[in-house]
Amino acid sequence: MEFCPNCGKVLLPKKGILHCYGCNYEKKLSDDEKQDYVINKDVSDKQNIIVTDDSINTHPTTRGLCYRCGNRELEWWMVQMHRSDEAETRFYRCTKCGNTWRRSN
Ligand SMILES: [Zn+2]
Ligand SMILES: [Zn+2]
Repeated sequence: MEFCPNCGKVLLPKKGILHCYGCNYEKKLSDDEKQDYVINKDVSDKQNIIVTDDSINTHPTTRGLCYRCGNRELEWWMVQMHRSDEAETRFYRCTKCGNTWRRSN
């Protein structure tokens, strides 16, 4: 961050120059300095990317039997229930009709 030599306010980057909004002092940026400001802008843009759950919402499939429609391909995943000393519960979901149930081992 740089400060205006005339009035001491913060200089803000603006189209390749640093501009003082206090006294309209302007300072040209060198190419190296321009790159610094471009990189800073990219970083702040990346922080605005929203990660949705959709990208991790796929479960492995296994052979099994859906008692509702007879389909033999099931998605499955493990869930730790309530207390950490309880056994994990395995959930199954039929890939055909969406029927979901759980089984404790
Ligand atoms: Zn100034
Ligand atoms: Zn089914």
